[in-house]
Amino acid sequence: MANNSKIEWTRHTWTPVVGCDPISPACAFCYAALMAARLEAMGQEKYAGLATRQGNRGKWTGKVTLWEPELLAPLKVRKPAAWFLTSMGDVGHEAVPFSFLDRLFAVMTLCQQHTFYVLTKRPERLAGYLTDFQAGIRVCRATIPFATTEVLRFGNPAGTDGWWPLPNVLIGCTTEDQTRADERRPATASIAADGWRTFVSYEPALGPVDWAGWEFLSWLISGGESGQHARPSHPDWHRTARDWCAANGVPYLFKQWGEWHDETDRAPHERSRRVADKVINASGEILGGGDGHTGYVELDWRERGGAWMARGGKKAAGRLLDGVEHNGKPEVR
Ligand code: SF4
Repeated sequence: MANNSKIEWTRHTWTPVVGCDPISPACAFCYAALMAARLEAMGQEKYAGLATRQGNRGKWTGKVTLWEPELLAPLKVRKPAAWFLTSMGDVGHEAVPFSFLDRLFAVMTLCQQHTFYVLTKRPERLAGYLTDFQAGIRVCRATIPFATTEVLRFGNPAGTDGWWPLPNVLIGCTTEDQTRADERRPATASIAADGWRTFVSYEPALGPVDWAGWEFLSWLISGGESGQHARPSHPDWHRTARDWCAANGVPYLFKQWGEWHDETDRAPHERSRRVADKVINASGEILGGGDGHTGYVELDWRERGGAWMARGGKKAAGRLLDGVEHNGKPEVR
């Protein structure tokens, strides 16, 4: 059963791997953990024991479930579509054995009509898997049981010229700040050097990133954080990503502002509140803050590069960056 997605850049989510544990500052308010706890409370066996609910947050227990009933979901959809693997965990998690990755990549092999976006915060593990010279052989073998079932409609390209690395699959990593960008670039670069198309999700953007050295990318997405505990992102972080993409021929998608929007250039009487919820500069330094009614702001916040960020919710914030919608996407192959 395909899950339709509200995520701007995909049509379906594919969740044969559910459950995770935090690895990064971006995980602090993991939406998937809260959702998993809610779904278990609604009686969904798939999410049993994965997370607990603590107020308005979810906390992973560390259990990871490989959910077989979802494994063949893309094979059952004939219409070409974009699929995100996986929105309820991390396919690069250590608890996902290579034998299961073989089967996931086998399904992607047999679904040439679809484009898959495999996103992880653990690219070094996927690099270890994908750059192993035997990976293609294992995946080729793993297609055999699926290729003999009634779900196979589009032939089996495994073993034919140019089938591996899979042209319909992009491997992505999340990088929310410079530290994570530096940590995850070598592994992502090694995947790209092996012939895979790669992308970055710079969402939630939590700090500035210098993108020099990422020229191998096929796509870059940036966005601010959403949800009750969302942290604001400085507009310059997204502008830097946008401008770097333009200079390097990398498609750029500005996904969302998230919970916070920029009111820096509004006259004081046009701002949604008299006191900013948060003023941050391009280094992430806090120059002011409050609850929207009372608060403080450093007098020289403008001179110090501050952005006056107001909390108005994701819908109100929209997805225009300097008045422009950025919808760059990689070519479908
Ligand atoms: S890697 Fe993803 S799913 Fe796992 S804790 Fe972090 S944000 Fe949540």
